[in-house]
Amino acid sequence: MAADEKMIIMESIDKHFGHLHVLKDVSLTVGTGEKLVIIGPSGSGKSTLIRCINHLEKPSKGRVIVDGVEITAHKAPVNKVRQSIGMVFQQFNLYHHKTVLENLTLAPILLKGVAKSEAEESAMMYLDRVGLKNKANVYPSQLSGGQQQRVAIARALNMRPKIMLFDEPTSALDPEMIQEVLDVMAGLAGEGITMVVVTHEMGFAKQVADRVIFMDEGEILEQGSPEHFFTNPEHDRAKLFLSKIL
Ligand code: ADP
Ligand code: MG
Repeated sequence: MAADEKMIIMESIDKHFGHLHVLKDVSLTVGTGEKLVIIGPSGSGKSTLIRCINHLEKPSKGRVIVDGVEITAHKAPVNKVRQSIGMVFQQFNLYHHKTVLENLTLAPILLKGVAKSEAEESAMMYLDRVGLKNKANVYPSQLSGGQQQRVAIARALNMRPKIMLFDEPTSALDPEMIQEVLDVMAGLAGEGITMVVVTHEMGFAKQVADRVIFMDEGEILEQGSPEHFFTNPEHDRAKLFLSKIL
């Protein structure tokens, strides 16, 4: 992998919350365009790790380099780097007093100085992409959970990010709405964007992931292709985890 093909480099990351040692010397590189899926038990540090990528969590030690910029550096342009990273959370976090269209256009206009007409035009394109063009003028409360999460994805995309981070995006959804969100994510994966996805949806991981990482107790215990990981995991803790969720 050439240096310019690395989109995310995490070097020897440690994270402590008080006495809790949540990430233990974790190193991870994500290639440009790579689809990485992170799985592991609750509390293993998945969210903390993914949040270190956009500096929502500041590592206690180690370096994070995103698209060639070290965001852990003193006076790093964190806000600028964040603009190139979209994030979708378990809770959809939409602005409830704004329409769907306004949810999509707010950040590009305020943070990137995009003209309103241009932001609206691209917003409609992304809403179309997630199948919600006809919902542009409603408020989030008028949408189902699955629809709200698709809006959250479209909102992130309207910032034209190079990286999309997903932290258990379907975990808060009713079962019948999970697939529509996974379908949107799988469609996105076909487009060359770098994706890091924390999920327990193994079908999605098998379909989309270039690489699967298994975390346990603040460490990357195992990684490999989905074929390798799902059929032949090496560690007992990975086997145990898979036996519980598959
Ligand atoms: P996962 O996403 O794999 O469930 P997290 O990264 O959310 O794991 O959490 C890892 C550990 O760090 C857990 O023990 C959790 O309670 C703890 N933790 C996470 N965020 C904080 C925080 N802001 N303050 C204190 N402890 C935290
Ligand atoms: Mg989590």
